[in-house]
Amino acid sequence: MSGEKVRANAVAGAQPPGIRDMIASLVSQPSISSASPEWDHSNESVVQTLAHWLEPMGFAVEILPVPGMPGKYNLIATLGSGSGGLVLSGHTDTVPYDDKRWQSDPFKLTDRDDRWYGLGTCDMKGFFALAIEAAKAFTGTPLKQPLIILATADEESSMNGARALAESGRPKARYAVIGEPTGLKPVRMHKGIMMERLVFDGQSGHSSDPSLGRNAMEGMHAAIGELLTLRGEWQNRYQNPNFDVQVPTLNLGCIHGGDNPNRICANCELHFDLRPLPGMQMDELRQAILDRIQPLARERNLGMRFEPLFDGVPPFETSPDAALVKVCERLTGHSAQSVAFATEAPWLQKLGMETLVMGPGHIDQAHQPDEYLDLSQVKPAVDILSRLIQHFCVDDASAAELKS
Ligand SMILES: [Zn+2]
Repeated sequence: MSGEKVRANAVAGAQPPGIRDMIASLVSQPSISSASPEWDHSNESVVQTLAHWLEPMGFAVEILPVPGMPGKYNLIATLGSGSGGLVLSGHTDTVPYDDKRWQSDPFKLTDRDDRWYGLGTCDMKGFFALAIEAAKAFTGTPLKQPLIILATADEESSMNGARALAESGRPKARYAVIGEPTGLKPVRMHKGIMMERLVFDGQSGHSSDPSLGRNAMEGMHAAIGELLTLRGEWQNRYQNPNFDVQVPTLNLGCIHGGDNPNRICANCELHFDLRPLPGMQMDELRQAILDRIQPLARERNLGMRFEPLFDGVPPFETSPDAALVKVCERLTGHSAQSVAFATEAPWLQKLGMETLVMGPGHIDQAHQPDEYLDLSQVKPAVDILSRLIQHFCVDDASAAELKS
């Protein structure tokens, strides 16, 4: 969108609605992302709504289609200019919902018990409203470094929005805060997620004579043995006391094979997940698995496929000494910690930004019926975001001390 239009709107000085109205509007627009086509929605209307609020505030807004994903868009909204600055990032999509288990309409923001209920209130449409509210105070201020509001597509499913941004090399800034629900505590690390599929193809035959076939299930039995051995080796080698589960995990999640007791099993398929610690490389883990199971398949003359079920999320870690970590720790009074869920942080980090996860609400309230944002989180969140903007975009961001 043209700079001229942005300036004209900025003169008009229209301000977006209040926080509650913004959240109600975002929640009312379904933007579920899912690998199941019957659930998957476009996020276009959410992105357009954000653009409609941000442009009149003086933000230069770009809406970027996610390549290969019709109906999916990322939004980059920039206030001010320069090479540094602060990104406040959120995802526009939500998970699917179970209608029958909600006490109220998931798409209608509902007030109850000092909470706002609705799909996406805490994970994480609510964050956009709070970031925009915080930004309102800075629209007339000359910024030394830009403030960028980033809205991504498909975080809950493929993470392809963040992947596309990392590939395109945008946005560029010095710091990024992802507003996932962490109870406003800074988070500087999480494990990665890998989901893998292993298939063995053999040959069926009468069970009375094993030489009539090649048993895929027996091959899988051996492969599982190797996977569990590898798991033990990794858990001996890698430990991180910052996590509740201090070791990398490997879970055997699902297995299918064979059809009848008296037939040699011709086909067996295993799905497993791996949660690597920061410092573990996903491609090296895949190679290590391959090195162990390929010989098993070969010696049994079994066909083999080993492939990821999705591209995976790399583990993420920002140094405890990073400026953003120090500032957020001082602002919140909490030392930075780890979480058990994955985020888009690895891709923002890949763009060269110091990245941290911190937002209102709690992850226990996400991905389930009656998702809510506790009202006690609202004002502190706006306050913290305002002070981050002040520190990184208005004051000299190189100043070590945070102004109180
Ligand atoms: Zn989320």
